[in-house]
Amino acid sequence: MCGIIGYLGNKEAALVLQKGLRKLNYRGYDSWGFGLKNKHKIEVIKDVGDFEQVEEFSDVESNCGISHSRWATTGKVSKENAHPHTTEDNKIVIVHNGIVENFQELKANLLSKGHKFKSETDTEIICHLIEEFSEYEFPEAVRRAFLKLKGRNAVVALHQDFEGLVGVKNGSPLIVGIKNNSDKDEYFIASDSRAFVEETNKVVFLDDNELVVLN
Ligand code: GLU
Repeated sequence: MCGIIGYLGNKEAALVLQKGLRKLNYRGYDSWGFGLKNKHKIEVIKDVGDFEQVEEFSDVESNCGISHSRWATTGKVSKENAHPHTTEDNKIVIVHNGIVENFQELKANLLSKGHKFKSETDTEIICHLIEEFSEYEFPEAVRRAFLKLKGRNAVVALHQDFEGLVGVKNGSPLIVGIKNNSDKDEYFIASDSRAFVEETNKVVFLDDNELVVLN
């Protein structure tokens, strides 16, 4: 089972996420990735192997991001299949834990509508499903897409034009951590509270079919 961690606050997101991922090392992983949001875009950095190989994220200044350590279940171990996954325009960026049991059927439908895919994963179809609901506000689009998925899944999503993180889960854990500061609060979301528990003073366990917006 892989690890997810997301962060929004006043610190350098890449470093917070890397520290959080280290706490999830006990789960093991075959590939890894980061999605780091700044004013202009969401930078995706991912690869197979050990995420410690990223020594610095020098070009990326970000206080909001997501990261992932993957155990491949759908699609081989490769850079393309590592998370985060994105839409073609790179505006929607997600990490995912679980298996979308009906992904073949959903993918066939999306292909028939002209969507193009870069990976073999079930995860990538979730970005495209969210895009299908782009007439709605981002959290509502995520909610509608998530309702199409069968299986046990947890998703954390970013959109270039939306301030904050959206998380949703069913049958796979997703936990929120909050650090109340005198100036700006910090928010964490992860598949295991170990990823952030030392940094926070409040923990919220999401129920199945509960969606959270952190902003
Ligand atoms: N099914 C997804 C994949 O194969 C998620 C795997 C995981 O939970 O690490 O990429």
